[in-house]
Amino acid sequence: MIVGDLKPLPEIVATIKEYKQVLILGCGSCVTVCLSGGEKEAHQLCHELSQIRHYEGSPPKFEVGAILRQCEQDLVAEYQKIPEGTDAILSLACGAGVQTVADAYDPLPVIPGLNTTFLGASAKPGNWTEMCQGCGDCVLAFTGGICPVARCSKSLFNGPCGGSQNGSCEVDPETPCAWSLIYYRLKRQNKLHLIKQLWVSKDWRPAGSSGPRKRVRIGLGDGNK
Ligand code: SF4
Ligand code: SF4
Repeated sequence: MIVGDLKPLPEIVATIKEYKQVLILGCGSCVTVCLSGGEKEAHQLCHELSQIRHYEGSPPKFEVGAILRQCEQDLVAEYQKIPEGTDAILSLACGAGVQTVADAYDPLPVIPGLNTTFLGASAKPGNWTEMCQGCGDCVLAFTGGICPVARCSKSLFNGPCGGSQNGSCEVDPETPCAWSLIYYRLKRQNKLHLIKQLWVSKDWRPAGSSGPRKRVRIGLGDGNK
């Protein structure tokens, strides 16, 4: 899922203080699960942002709403609850949601309340770790199901760097070395021959270096552009 973190309050205040009436719009999907941008967090933020101490003049008037998925144009279009007089929306969705809402309500300013951080998985409740960078050309079949792009601090493709120490990454000793994990996983799978495969260079074009990526649903396994 997509993980996002609430922006620092002073940054949010600086971006909304010029408006008179702001709709704080939660998103009911990923950011609800990671407790940063759901309806409940929208109400909490509304309470905090309404405090006069954050402003030199009067605070804006706030309303709260939520859309199940702000990244889906249909769901955004169905949402007909923008209160009259709203002169800005503070979206608590990921960057994709913020932009979808901004397109739908153009020219109403739509301001991000979150920093979208990573695609993560949860190993235990309330903890998420980055697992994938959406490179568009997945190599997990060759790396024992462990992503070298997201989980190696240097996104290396041909085994560990010289700094790998006792299974830990030199960048952060608390982080397991991804290539150490890959080695032992492949060993347990009797597939260590895979680690000898040399990646001359990865084709990064599917990672988005050729402009925004698109997908059109046509049929199973079909439709990437
Ligand atoms: S190899 Fe690419 S697609 Fe596969 S998990 Fe890693 S970043 Fe994601
Ligand atoms: S120690 Fe391992 S995880 Fe860290 S940068 Fe080097 S190869 Fe990557």
